[in-house]
Amino acid sequence: MSVWDGFKDAALGRSLVERIAERLDALGATERQPVRLMEVCGGHTHSIFRYGLATVLPPALEFLHGPGCPVCVLPMGRIDDCVAIAEDPRVIFTTFGDAMRVPGSRKSLMQAKADGADIRMVYSPLDALALARRNPDREVVFFGLGFETTMPSTALTVLRAEAEGIANFSLFSQHVTIIPTLKAVLDTPGLTVDGFIGPGHVSMVIGLRPYRFIAETYRKPFVVAGFEPVDVLQSVWMLLGRIAEGRPVIENQYGRVVPEDGNQRARAAMDAVFEERERCEWRGLGSIDRSGVRIRDRYARFDAERRFSVGGAVVADPQACQCGEVLTGTLKPWQCRLFGNGCSPETPVGALMVSSEGACAAWYQYGGARRGAA
Ligand code: SF4
Repeated sequence: MSVWDGFKDAALGRSLVERIAERLDALGATERQPVRLMEVCGGHTHSIFRYGLATVLPPALEFLHGPGCPVCVLPMGRIDDCVAIAEDPRVIFTTFGDAMRVPGSRKSLMQAKADGADIRMVYSPLDALALARRNPDREVVFFGLGFETTMPSTALTVLRAEAEGIANFSLFSQHVTIIPTLKAVLDTPGLTVDGFIGPGHVSMVIGLRPYRFIAETYRKPFVVAGFEPVDVLQSVWMLLGRIAEGRPVIENQYGRVVPEDGNQRARAAMDAVFEERERCEWRGLGSIDRSGVRIRDRYARFDAERRFSVGGAVVADPQACQCGEVLTGTLKPWQCRLFGNGCSPETPVGALMVSSEGACAAWYQYGGARRGAA
């Protein structure tokens, strides 16, 4: 038995479900007036649906699916920029697989590849750097996206490119940061959240300290959680306990992976390469101040935005798309008029249907059985 098996233990899971139900009863929560918890990270959204947690937990608990899937919040304008760069015949454009299918206003990267652009899927930014070494006569661009989880590896790749004097590598940065994003969620008018299931991987890098404002200013409990079913259930149980006590605190359920202070070396690499962007556009959420990063002037020669003179175009989402309402918990995925009716994982209209961590894709794959439950 591996150490991980305990986090999938069915008996332990059932016992936690019972104890969660008791806490919900004690709180007086009902289906009409549920306790509303937001899972910030798309990995948790996926776990909740994959393991059927939404169907075994009482309807007096409602999950809101937050904006923590970086593919899901990729704005159309940035995809258009990527396509424009990728269609330059000098360029080998590289990115992670999920980003390939996100719709732009003209086409996705997948469609651009089908039309002849040299676009390659990689598993790490170091794969892109290796391509640059092997193809000195081509410009290799890496599309870096994600929160503080993926940002350190991108930063370290830029530092490696500089150390090796590799001149034909550059980065198109769509990296975003979690704290301004959470502030924007908390400030969303009309949004009621009783507590947060905090992102495990981001917290591994930034630690727990940056979340303190959520307890101190907004008076909400926040539990950083792992991704196995017992992890998620235990974090729900912990959150209900703090709500019952009226004691909003920041806690760490994922201590086996997340150190209290995060990873200082990773943060140092990010700080060396990146600086805040004044404004950053999000799909469905509009612009959130200082929620993204760009490459510092010192590393400008590795900045694809400057090398290829793109960036900044804001393109409105398709009118019928309701990704923004889903991302802020106003609508359930199946309540979007396009859900399964023009928008599906095979033909995504909105980005929430692209990644397996997207709320709409997870609903489509696992959630249809119990509409209204999560
Ligand atoms: S169904 Fe499609 S368009 Fe509607 S919210 Fe989900 S991803 Fe967006």
